[in-house]
Amino acid sequence: MPSVLNCAEGIVLYYRVLPMSDTIFHKIIRKEIPATIEYESETVIVIRDINPQAPFHCLIIPKKTMRSIYDITEEDGSIILEMMQTANRLADENGFAKDGFRLVMNCEEWGGQTVFQLHMHMLAGKKMSGGFA
Ligand code: AMP
Repeated sequence: MPSVLNCAEGIVLYYRVLPMSDTIFHKIIRKEIPATIEYESETVIVIRDINPQAPFHCLIIPKKTMRSIYDITEEDGSIILEMMQTANRLADENGFAKDGFRLVMNCEEWGGQTVFQLHMHMLAGKKMSGGFA
C-alpha cells in the first residue's frame, strides 16, 4: 500500500521530483509563445530577457528540463559546457569579448530564481556594479 503523503511532503515531491516541463521557457523552446531568439542549437536556446538589466541581457537556456543548478548531474557536463561556450560565442559576435560581461545563475527562491527551468543570464554592454546581494 502506498503511504499517504502529507501536504508538505506532497509539495516537495511535486517540485523536486516530477519534471517541471511547463515553464514559460519550455513554451518558448516549443515555439508556443514568441521571444527574440538570438541563437539556437539542438542543446540550447538564447533569448533576449523581456526585462533587460543591461544594454545586452540574454538568457542562455538548456533545452533539457532541469529545474535549477541543483539538478545538474555529471551527465549534464556537455550541456553546461555548451552554455559557457555559447556565452563566449555571443561575446565574440556582439563585441563584448575584450571589455567583458557577467554571467549569473540564480538558484531557488533565496537565490532570486523566478523561472524554474535552468538558465544563465548574460549581461553586457556596460561596466557592471560591484554588488552581488
Ligand atoms: P530568474 O529570476 O533568474 O529566474 O530569471 C528569470 C528571467 O526571465 C527574468 O530576468 C525575466 O525578466 C525573464 N523572463 C520572464 N519571462 C520572459 C519572457 N517571456 N521572455 C524573456 N524573458 C523572460
